[in-house]
Amino acid sequence: MPSSPFHVAVLGAGVFGVSAAVHLQRLGALVTLVTEAKPANGASSRSLSWLNSARRRSDAYHRLRMAGIDRYRTLSAHLPSADWLRFDGGLTWDAGGADNTIAAIQAHESALGYDSRLVSADDVPALLPGVNPRAIPPEGAIFNPGEGWVDLPSLIHHLLAEFTVEGGSLITDAGPGEVLVRAGRAVGLRLEEAREIQADAVVLATGPAVPRMAKTLGLTIPDSTPISMLVKTRPQFSRLKAVLNTPHVAIRPTPDGGLVMDSAWSEEEIIRHLDGACEVRDSTIARLLAEASAVLDGAPDLRFESFGMGPKPIPGDGEPVAGALPGVPGGFVLFSHSGATLGLIMGELIAHEIVTGAPHPLLAAFRPDRFR
Ligand SMILES: Cc1cc2nc3c(=O)[nH]c(=O)nc-3n(C[C@H](O)[C@H](O)[C@H](O)COP(=O)(O)OP(=O)(O)OC[C@H]3O[C@@H](n4cnc5c(N)ncnc54)[C@H](O)[C@@H]3O)c2cc1C
Repeated sequence: MPSSPFHVAVLGAGVFGVSAAVHLQRLGALVTLVTEAKPANGASSRSLSWLNSARRRSDAYHRLRMAGIDRYRTLSAHLPSADWLRFDGGLTWDAGGADNTIAAIQAHESALGYDSRLVSADDVPALLPGVNPRAIPPEGAIFNPGEGWVDLPSLIHHLLAEFTVEGGSLITDAGPGEVLVRAGRAVGLRLEEAREIQADAVVLATGPAVPRMAKTLGLTIPDSTPISMLVKTRPQFSRLKAVLNTPHVAIRPTPDGGLVMDSAWSEEEIIRHLDGACEVRDSTIARLLAEASAVLDGAPDLRFESFGMGPKPIPGDGEPVAGALPGVPGGFVLFSHSGATLGLIMGELIAHEIVTGAPHPLLAAFRPDRFR
């Protein structure tokens, strides 16, 4: 460790900030975690949180995601009865017709050693209760037995319990903070009313606010963050345990016996007003529930409970952004899509880099300085 005691300030209590804070503390750092409102109030509060490395992506990104899933498996083995972290598999299918490439995708996954099986509609009832086999096209579906889902607010509160019991300092409802830079170096956080927190290193983990905040620190991160929506049903009887990814809806169970769902088309239907406010039509929610019902066994009457709407952080090139802020010694950043899958591993690796000063090879492809 560079100095003793080594103090790290983390800004943002979504999954990345909380994971970084806990892993830093496990490595012996003194950690102050500051967030503007309550923990788990941002993208992490309204995430489908499918734990996966499905389909095609760069080798480096696949490796990172597999390490991410590995950390969840370890956690799951320690918490076998947790109702917020489940590995009950995933089922994916595409629209039937000439453009259907599901067999090629399955072959690609298999070639990587990703547990992946091409299944037909007839196979599904025995493998995955709760799915409507008639929704699956003749080309079939991919069954990934090793996939799962996590309820991120539950994970965040689980990690925060460890963080506070072990002496970590958590400051909530702090209002918007920023990275404090002196003589070109990140030296802590500046909070409202000119309050300052001094630190030897700072982690910027403010989710969708990262690109705007990184810009004030001299780094332009291309940003493709859309407004997204996650709809939740009331608790109800459903035999679905797996995560479903289908042409018009993605669904997973929730710890309280409900379902959550999202889709690309419903995201596009969100109305963005000139003043920045967003709105969702009742018809969009109704159609999303109908699409979900259509892929579930027995076409259940799904009762709307709530929806969450807001930015879904996505870097412009689609790849994670993790590591030292170029030109600002002491500054580090975490910004990514698929932050559910990557939450534990990216927090662990950034903590390793901060505390040891040694770059971790798994993050080599995702350095913020690729945008310089
Ligand atoms: C609809 C949807 C579906 C998704 N599906 C999946 C999926 O299937 N699989 C998957 O792996 N990932 C998925 N994701 C992505 C994943 O949920 C996100 O990548 C992850 O939650 C991002 O976490 P974060 O910590 O970066 O951001 P956030 O959860 O937004 O946390 C940022 C925190 O920083 C705080 N903050 C912001 N600005 C400041 C400031 N200036 N000062 C202090 N605090 C500040 C916020 O209040 C918030 O608490 C999905 C996301 C959405 C929205």
